Amino acid sequence: MDGSSLPETRSTCAYCGVGCGVLLRPDGAGGLAVRGDPEHPANRGRLCSKGTNLGETVGLDDRLLHPVIKGARADWDTALDLVAEKFRDTVARHGPDSVALYVSGQLLTEDYYIANKLTKGYLGTANIDTNSRLCMASTVAGHRRAFGTDTVPGTYEDLELADLVVLTGSNTAWCHPVLFQRIRAAKEARPEMKIVVIDPRRTATCDIADLHLPLRPGSDVALFNGLLSAIYDMGAVDGPFLDHIDGFEEAIAAASDSDPTVTGLDPLLLKRFYQLWVGTEKVVTVFSQGVNQSSSGADKVNAILNCHLATGRIGKPGCGPFSVTGQPNAMGGREVGGLANMLACHMEIENPDHRQAVRQFWDAPAMPEKPGLKAVDMFRAVGEGRIKALWIIHTNPAVSMPDADRVRDAIAGCDFVVVSDVTDRTDTARLADVLLPATAWGEKSGTVTNSDRTISRQRAVLPAPGEARPDWWAMAEVARRMGWRDAFDYQGPEEIFREYATLSGIAGGFGLDFDISGLKGITDSAYDQMKPTRWPVTDGRQGGRFFADGRFFTPSGKGRMLPLHHREPAAQTGPRYPFRLNTGRIRDQWHTMTRTAKSAKLSSHLAEPFLEIHPEDAARLKLAPAALVQVASPQGRGILRALITDRVQPGEVFAPMHWTAETAPSARIDALVAPVVDPVSGQPESKAAVCDVQPF
Ligand code: SF4
Repeated sequence: MDGSSLPETRSTCAYCGVGCGVLLRPDGAGGLAVRGDPEHPANRGRLCSKGTNLGETVGLDDRLLHPVIKGARADWDTALDLVAEKFRDTVARHGPDSVALYVSGQLLTEDYYIANKLTKGYLGTANIDTNSRLCMASTVAGHRRAFGTDTVPGTYEDLELADLVVLTGSNTAWCHPVLFQRIRAAKEARPEMKIVVIDPRRTATCDIADLHLPLRPGSDVALFNGLLSAIYDMGAVDGPFLDHIDGFEEAIAAASDSDPTVTGLDPLLLKRFYQLWVGTEKVVTVFSQGVNQSSSGADKVNAILNCHLATGRIGKPGCGPFSVTGQPNAMGGREVGGLANMLACHMEIENPDHRQAVRQFWDAPAMPEKPGLKAVDMFRAVGEGRIKALWIIHTNPAVSMPDADRVRDAIAGCDFVVVSDVTDRTDTARLADVLLPATAWGEKSGTVTNSDRTISRQRAVLPAPGEARPDWWAMAEVARRMGWRDAFDYQGPEEIFREYATLSGIAGGFGLDFDISGLKGITDSAYDQMKPTRWPVTDGRQGGRFFADGRFFTPSGKGRMLPLHHREPAAQTGPRYPFRLNTGRIRDQWHTMTRTAKSAKLSSHLAEPFLEIHPEDAARLKLAPAALVQVASPQGRGILRALITDRVQPGEVFAPMHWTAETAPSARIDALVAPVVDPVSGQPESKAAVCDVQPF
């Protein structure tokens, strides 16, 4: 039977942090018809190529359909008993910090909540981190330093209401395409609206730019310090708003010491940008991975926030700094405390009052008093044998972590590795002692939060195949087998959501931003019908913007400007490694391609890995178009096809990060990236490695 008579189900796209709503209708043959949800506030019916082709990715080829222990089929009871026994014994013999969970922005909020509760409340370690560390940890650190909490001040509507949108470190056209469509449509409706793109590469996003600033990689702090100086010199500081801000004098002093020439930009171009920014009241500065993935990522974020705080351009319609997250539920992960240095609901692990409140709420036997290991340090500890039992959920660190070969070797050498995933064909799944089959997008139910704080339901429309089960269930079952039966006795995601919403009321009681306690009594049917809802949701408040009233979440109640200084990227180019290597996404693939590679349409966009190299460099190396090149860094080497283009600057090369040992073994580009991190956020510097390029 075809599915045309079946009703459509509202859900959300599986991919980026725009969080588009989709309408799904099973086609009766295991597939799905997909269209954009005209009622979802994120996309109002729009979809990009990845969202449009979601239906092509739900086939069962390559699916993991039953538990596996040491390569042999197992049943769930045996697998869960083994995981519980190994984690219990490891904690007993080596202490709680000898175990770790490494999770993902692909998890639903309810899964994330259980992972965090199990690890921090019951295993007694804060060694849970997420691949969101690779995505937006610098934004979290920057927000917390400036605002006191990890708060996104504005909304998507602000991008349409702005008279100037600055897109910095963001190839929005490819990485957040529906947001790009919204900005482009706003500019078409109001051609006087200006767009500035700040990016070392001339990406597809530049197609709508009035100005493109191809700054030197890593020089964003100098660029925005220059802007702060211009704000001061041109008399654009908002005096009354400064009553709500600490650190202004120090930030201005540091900015005036800064040398914008390190950006490598034409001074006239810089001046035009500064005049445009200062002269436009309604300005939104969007930032993403090009800002975050840096050894000075947190400072870059704060350099942007400084400019908005000094001018009071925050929290008002059409104004504000705006981070866009990579993954569908990176924000939900931040909210439940999926990062090693956070507690649930934006509470802080190092705050004894927060710790005590969460411990009491969870009735937890243990609670760590210090942050756990962030991703890079976590895998270093795995390699050194300090972490002996590791549970990896919906992510592929053997490909996506910097220094990926070393990470792969570390996982291979770990005493006990559990991998929960939808397939056994990832580079990481191949290293598992125990494989647990998880339900995939389209088969599982829960909530996600997108980049503008909108919580949406993701709904199951396809039956779980084989023995696949939800992640929250697998983790709760392990917890129950470890003796914590009552604390993990959940019947479904709605019950977990209610507990989480109740806990958020405690955060609200501490005066924190994240509070959805207005949803703590949500019934099963109301949860089932829940419409997209922007937090906070309390009895007295819902959605909206933060900070227009000058109230921040710091102890003083004031926002904080920081004195910042430019720092060069950690790895320096030189005679041996003369090129600056930038990595990133392409339009139609997602992460390590386990899903998008199933779609012939998506795979036809850019079918193989490549290295963008400038024509001058290609001529010097005598490279013919599409020649194979060997790319070598201090960490590793690869072989890629040269794509000769002036989209990159001379001396800079770019390669996508999607390919794996299975899809293109010589193109695992993160094997070439150094495991260097921002000292505040722990986020790796994935966009400023160094390498040599030679004809192959
Ligand atoms: Fe999905 Fe992002 Fe595309 Fe929207 S913009 S359809 S969320 S990939």
